[in-house]
Amino acid sequence: MRLEGSCLCGAVTVSLARPPERVNMCHCSACQKRSGSPFGMAVWVAEADIAVAGETREFTFLSDKGRPTTNRFCPLCGGTVTFVASLNPGMVAVPAGIFADPETPPPQRSVFEERRHPWVAVPEGAVRLPRGRDG
Ligand SMILES: [Zn+2]
Ligand SMILES: [Zn+2]
Repeated sequence: MRLEGSCLCGAVTVSLARPPERVNMCHCSACQKRSGSPFGMAVWVAEADIAVAGETREFTFLSDKGRPTTNRFCPLCGGTVTFVASLNPGMVAVPAGIFADPETPPPQRSVFEERRHPWVAVPEGAVRLPRGRDG
């Protein structure tokens, strides 16, 4: 499976050379604000396995655990195309929604469960981490 994605306007494209190392659903406040949804979906890949084309800008902030996190986004439409967390050196997260692909693998982990909206269902078999790692 080869995942290809883009921001909303299409100026920035992302492609993964291999399937993701892991997929998380994350209920932290940063993922909620970034995505505009009750949770974020992060597809994690090694830096070497991702290609990003197009101009991006960066925004660095502190995660819910106070660790530096940097979002890369399209300056035209504002959509985040990747983010990196200081806790995961060498790894890059892609918001799963940019693939807009129902074949995107389901999450193996649900993190920041303490911030989960109570009506959000977690897929069966996903590891639930009340005090999850960033992203
Ligand atoms: Zn765009
Ligand atoms: Zn998060």
